[in-house]
Amino acid sequence: MIIKTKKLQGQVALITGASSGIGAGVAKALANEGATVVINYSSSPEKAEKVLAEIKAKGGDGITIKADVSNEKEVSDMFQQTIKRYGTVDILVNNAGLQKDAKLHEMTLEAWNYVIGINLTGQFLCSREAIKEFLRRGVVEDRSKAAGKIICMSSVHEVIPWAGHANYAASKGGVMMLMKTMAQEYAPMKIRINSIGPGAIRTPINHAAWQTPEAYNQLLKLIPSKRIGEADDIGGAAVWLASDDSDYVNGITLFVDGGMLLYPGFEDNG
Ligand code: NAD
Repeated sequence: MIIKTKKLQGQVALITGASSGIGAGVAKALANEGATVVINYSSSPEKAEKVLAEIKAKGGDGITIKADVSNEKEVSDMFQQTIKRYGTVDILVNNAGLQKDAKLHEMTLEAWNYVIGINLTGQFLCSREAIKEFLRRGVVEDRSKAAGKIICMSSVHEVIPWAGHANYAASKGGVMMLMKTMAQEYAPMKIRINSIGPGAIRTPINHAAWQTPEAYNQLLKLIPSKRIGEADDIGGAAVWLASDDSDYVNGITLFVDGGMLLYPGFEDNG
């Protein structure tokens, strides 16, 4: 019998795209609550090692694994490696994602497939491997009330259309229905699947939107809370969705957006 002093103690969490931005913030937050973390990265081993070193310096533990989430074999190998090392995986955070922007009439099929492949198919491939393992293991009461938890990193753009970003918006709309369908399919097996829908969070993906004071002020027009979000804001939400504190929560998108979905254009009488 484990006496839990932290919410995720004894659990293994795999976070995709965790060498920077939101993924790194989520990995640190989960590790702070006692989870052993698998830091997936696709291209920057040194950045992934730096995140792991920060986690270890605070008493946490984990490993880094290179894998392209859009590659079926690499995803399967990553889960095999994780299970071989730690025996199982309890939490998956489907975080890896990117943009390749263009006006629709100028968007190449390559740019379309690239974004859908990583942002949507990547979440399918990783979820499939995680669910196989959750079903194999079942519930272990000492660890969690659930057999497993998946958190899909979506976006406010699962509901807000985004001109010039059709591939990205379509991928996040797809993530919403993938998440809900998986949640419906596996809730009876005590697997919980939810999304986080970030608004504007200060990371490399959107540096153009906050780098200069002009751009930042323009951005604030879209945010009733009048500040950009930080990776820590998402980390806190991820801990809650991964822990038994949210045991009766399944199939939702938790928007963490400073009110971006509140039609800020109507703030001043519309
Ligand atoms: P980021 O660029 O810092 O992080 C994305 C990570 O995904 C990077 O570490 C990158 O290396 C990784 N990645 C890219 N392709 C990959 C692949 N094929 N396999 C594995 N990893 C891969 O940006 P971020 O803002 O931290 O983005 C993280 C997630 O949050 C994304 O899914 C993004 O769509 C979502 N999001 C971000 C914001 C925001 O404002 N920053 C808003 C809404 C949603």
